[in-house]
Amino acid sequence: MLIPCYACESRFRPGEYFVACHDYNRGMDLVAWTCPACGNRDDLRVMPDAIGFGYPWRGRFSVQDRFQVPGLRRRRRDLRLDISLDKDVWHVPTKLRQVA
Ligand SMILES: [Zn+2]
Repeated sequence: MLIPCYACESRFRPGEYFVACHDYNRGMDLVAWTCPACGNRDDLRVMPDAIGFGYPWRGRFSVQDRFQVPGLRRRRRDLRLDISLDKDVWHVPTKLRQVA
C-alpha cells in the first residue's frame, strides 16, 4: 500500500510516510507532515484505519477527506502521538510552544 502526497503525487510506503510526521498538535488532534519529495507541508489526523486530511476550522481540525490505511492505530500521549501499523510504531513529538 502506498500513501500519496496530494501536492506532488509522489507515493510513499507507510514507513517513509509516517517518519515524515513531525509535530503533534494535541489540542487540534492533528500532525504536521512534510513531504520528503517536494517539501509541501500538510496537516493530517491519524485515525483508526485511515488518515484524515482537512483544515483548521473554528479552532478544530475539520476532516474533509480520508485515505484508508487498514490496520492503522494511534494512541494519544501527553506530549506525543504514537502511530502504529502492523508491528511498526512511530512517535510524533509535540513541539512545546512558548506561551507569552
Ligand atoms: Zn510531495
